[in-house]
Amino acid sequence: MTQTAPFQPHPLDGKRVLVTGAASGIGEACARAFAAQGAHLVLADRDAAGVEAVAADIHGETIVVDLGDLDRVSAASWEADVLINNAGFQHLAAVEEFDPDTFDAMLRVMVQAPFRIAQRVLPGMYKRGWGRFVHVSSVHGQRASAFKSAYVTAKHGLEGLSKVLSVEGAPHGVTSNTIAPAYVRTPLVEGQLAEQAAQHGIGEAEVLNDVMLARTPVKRLIEPSEVADLAVFLCGPSSGSMSGGSYPISGGWLAT
Ligand code: NAD
Repeated sequence: MTQTAPFQPHPLDGKRVLVTGAASGIGEACARAFAAQGAHLVLADRDAAGVEAVAADIHGETIVVDLGDLDRVSAASWEADVLINNAGFQHLAAVEEFDPDTFDAMLRVMVQAPFRIAQRVLPGMYKRGWGRFVHVSSVHGQRASAFKSAYVTAKHGLEGLSKVLSVEGAPHGVTSNTIAPAYVRTPLVEGQLAEQAAQHGIGEAEVLNDVMLARTPVKRLIEPSEVADLAVFLCGPSSGSMSGGSYPISGGWLAT
C-alpha cells in the first residue's frame, strides 16, 4: 500500500524555532507568533528575567547569553529548524565622536553572533533538508542616516550574511531572508517619543508625525506583531522559493 505523509496542518507545527533578543519588542512578538503556529520556542537574550517571563507564557526554553560575548556564544548549545536573528541595539553619535568599543560591540551582537549561531544550526538543517533564517534587519540595512554608523554598517553586514546563507543553503532546502522595518512600536521607540516630546516641548503625536515620521507616507508606528506576521510567512508553506530577499515594512519610507 502506498504510504501517504501524515497531515501536517502547518509546516511550523513542532518545529524548533530559535529567536534571539526574545525578551522584548519584535523578538517577543516573533516568539509568541511562532508559538501560536505550534512551534517549540527557544528564546535567547541577556535579560534573564525578561526572557524567562516570555518563555513561561509559551512553554519555551531559554538561553541566557550576552551575544556580545562571542566566547559565550560559541560555548552555548544552538540547534534550530528556524533561526530568527533579531537581537540588536542602537547608539547615536557622529562618526568622529563614535566610541570604537561601542562600534565593535554592535558588530559583535548584530553580525558576528548571527554568523556564529548560523554556523552551529546549519549542519542540523542540512541533515534534515529544511531550514529557515529570518534576520531582523532595518531600513538601515538598505539606507543610511546620520549618526548611525555602527548600526547601518551592522545591518548592511547582516543583509550580506543572509544573501550568502540563501545561496549556500538552497541545495539543502534552507532559505534566508531579512525583514527591514522602519520605526516599530517597541519600548525603545516609545521612550524616544517621550524624550523628544519633553526636549522640544511638544506633544508625542507631533514628535511622531513631524519628526520621526516626517518623510514616511504611512503616519503610524509599525506594530511588532506586523513584523512577526511576516517572519511567520517567510517560514510558512509558501516560502520555499523566497530566499535571498530583503522585505521592507517601511510605511513607504523607502519609496520616498
Ligand atoms: P528591544 O530593545 O525591544 O529588544 C531587543 C532585545 O534584544 C532585548 O530583549 C535585549 O535584551 C536583547 N539584546 C540586546 N543586546 C543583546 C545582547 N548583547 N545579548 C543578548 N540579547 C541582547 O528592541 P526591538 O526594537 O524589538 O529590536 C529588535 C531588532 O529589531 C533589533 O535588531 C533592531 O535593530 C531591529 N529594528 C528595530 C526597529 C524599531 O523601530 N524598534 C526598527 C528596525 C529594526
